[in-house]
Amino acid sequence: MTYNFTSGEDLIRKCKELNLKIYEICIEREVELTGLSKEEVFEKMRVSLNIMKDAIKKAQVEDIKSMGGLIGGEAKKLSIFRNSDKRTVCGSLMNKAMTAAMGTMEVNASMGLVVAAPTAGSCGILPAAIVTIGNEYGFSDEEMINAMFTASAIGAIITRNATVSGAEGGCQAETGAAAAMASAGVVEMMGGSVEEALHSASYCLQNVMGLVCDPIAGLVEAPCQGRNAIGVANALISAELSLAGIINIIPFDETVEAMYKVGKTLPMELRETALGGVAATCTGCNLTKKIFG
Ligand code: SF4
Repeated sequence: MTYNFTSGEDLIRKCKELNLKIYEICIEREVELTGLSKEEVFEKMRVSLNIMKDAIKKAQVEDIKSMGGLIGGEAKKLSIFRNSDKRTVCGSLMNKAMTAAMGTMEVNASMGLVVAAPTAGSCGILPAAIVTIGNEYGFSDEEMINAMFTASAIGAIITRNATVSGAEGGCQAETGAAAAMASAGVVEMMGGSVEEALHSASYCLQNVMGLVCDPIAGLVEAPCQGRNAIGVANALISAELSLAGIINIIPFDETVEAMYKVGKTLPMELRETALGGVAATCTGCNLTKKIFG
């Protein structure tokens, strides 16, 4: 018997047959694949959680300037705004999640330490969702680590059957996959079922289907940072829909397949080459000239 799984269907079947949560299957799978003990696998994930938490904190207390100079200071601004007497449109919880996502991207763009889950360009979404919801509802580090294992299952399926690369499938594949992973992690952490986790992951991918990859100057700064803020909103909204019992009518595996097909039809200008989208606007081109001369 193997704990490995190749699709959402397969994962659901394994969870049911073995009466295990997604994160439990994932830990067993990791043990099977690496030969490490359960404790070692878990502690490795704890290192990732701590890196995520540090990056979120760093961006709110330090002045960060990205390598290209296109981003820096946005997390601080959001945090100051939340703590001011001004009214927030999104409310405190969503503002905190956006702050965490934007901040992690600032750390990444300044060559700081982040967890590229699933990629550097989408590194803000998973920490923002898991840590913000974890803190909000008083989940322990161990519960957040479990949620990260849940998220890893979704990442593994998308990577196996499609792609999480902007260069291959556009931003839908990158920030879409990150949101899908984060959303499933949040759903299971909040007590949702395996089916609900997959419904929410489907929503995330469907909500950004077709989103192009168009980094200005070819740098993972803008519009990437904003897409991480939107990405965590996507993850949390999708989790909420799913936990409320709203079923996604297209199964996860079919959604992944559709996303991959859409990615393949995107012209190369819209797949990380910086030749299309906002990268090719007049301002985008001027910024490129300014950075690279
Ligand atoms: S625009 Fe491209 S580089 Fe930026 S986050 Fe999206 S996929 Fe990554």
